[in-house]
Amino acid sequence: MKKKINLQLLEIATLAIISTMVITVAIFYNLFTNQLMDDLKSYTYIIEKLAIKQNFEQLNELNSEHLRITIISQDGSVQYDSDYDSQALENHGDRPEIARAKIYGEGESIRRSSTMNRTNFYYARQLTDGIIIRIGKEAGSVFYMLGNAIPYIIGLIVLLLLVCVVLAHYLTKSLVKPIEEIAANMDNINEIPIYKELVPFVNTIQRQHQDILKNALMRQEFTANVSHELKTPLTSISGYSELIENGMATAEDTVRFAGEIHRNATRLLNQINDIIHLSELDSSENHVTLEPVNIYKLSQTCVDMLQVNAEKHQVSIFFDGIPCLILADKGMLEELIYNLCDNGIRYNNKGGIVNVTVKPEGEKVILTVADTGIGISKEHQERIFERYYRVDKGRSQSTGGTGLGLAIVKHIVASLNGEITLESEKGRGTTIQVVFDKKEW
Ligand code: ATP
Ligand code: MG
Repeated sequence: MKKKINLQLLEIATLAIISTMVITVAIFYNLFTNQLMDDLKSYTYIIEKLAIKQNFEQLNELNSEHLRITIISQDGSVQYDSDYDSQALENHGDRPEIARAKIYGEGESIRRSSTMNRTNFYYARQLTDGIIIRIGKEAGSVFYMLGNAIPYIIGLIVLLLLVCVVLAHYLTKSLVKPIEEIAANMDNINEIPIYKELVPFVNTIQRQHQDILKNALMRQEFTANVSHELKTPLTSISGYSELIENGMATAEDTVRFAGEIHRNATRLLNQINDIIHLSELDSSENHVTLEPVNIYKLSQTCVDMLQVNAEKHQVSIFFDGIPCLILADKGMLEELIYNLCDNGIRYNNKGGIVNVTVKPEGEKVILTVADTGIGISKEHQERIFERYYRVDKGRSQSTGGTGLGLAIVKHIVASLNGEITLESEKGRGTTIQVVFDKKEW
């Protein structure tokens, strides 16, 4: 990249230098030509004023500075020429400057000289008596003059290019330096002086960097939690089975221990299912296929399925609502409703109630799961959506909870572009609302 910027700067500089040179030479040549023509005009004027156009000797004296003076009659025949024998010269009436002088009173012409790299400049003027005075001067052509200047021009180009190389080097360095420093010092980006065009870039990088760090930390915590959570039931299973193996359990104990082993194995299975589910959600987040789902019907079915479970906990669960559609993945939505209702039943008191409602509100559909259970105190409310977070480890574990349910819920809500809010008071109950975009029938 540095090399590219450097090269581009040099290209621009070279282009600028060369075009400046060409334009300067062109302007200079133009000025030079004008000046020369003005000089030639002055000469004709002097000859006219001195009235010496018939005095060829005086004309010869006047002729210095390599001027060619020609006096031509109206018919084009040459009367006098300072450089050639006028008798030998052919009729000059067809020379462009003379032809023009005959029509307009004066004429100019620039012609290639017979000698290489030289140019002839001519100026002709017709006097009142019809006689035409023509002055010619030979000078270097533009290429000839350029040829003389080439060593200087090359020298100048090299010098300018050198300056540009140095400037481009420092400019590129100052452009790239903050970026390199940012790359090397991701953790204290704020201490690096940057120019304002870089600020949005740095902010994005910083955010992403923090997200990556946070994710890494979460993953680390998750792995530690998983290992710990899996270890507990496995330790029990191992312990009970060892007792049976060593013959240290009576027949009665064996039945009880087998029950414990069964319970722990089930817990282990549930946990592993949850973990698999979470990692599936993690990886398939971007390609969930959403279809119109009647959330009213789905919730009703879910509540019906949980009736038995609720009775077991001596909790009543009710459902009410208005049929409406949302865009969702049916399986995911079912899991979400199930987890919320399951919590409502599990963290409830004997004789408690769980109310599930689905109702449209404007452009939205609101799913509410409200219970009259044990509630969650403020300090825990923020954290219960974290993986493995449980308010009362003992109670949750005794009911088979692993603390992954709400983490899954949160994930699903995000996948379905919904929003989840929680309201709870310790000892009085909890209300969880999930808001979705309504899909018209
Ligand atoms: P899992 O759902 O994975 O079987 P879990 O129920 O313990 O286990 P979550 O559903 O994530 O895990 O809930 C996390 C914690 O939040 C629970 O352990 C419980 O302490 C608290 N909690 C969740 N829902 C409620 C509720 N409705 N009332 C009171 N506390 C709740
Ligand atoms: Mg739960």
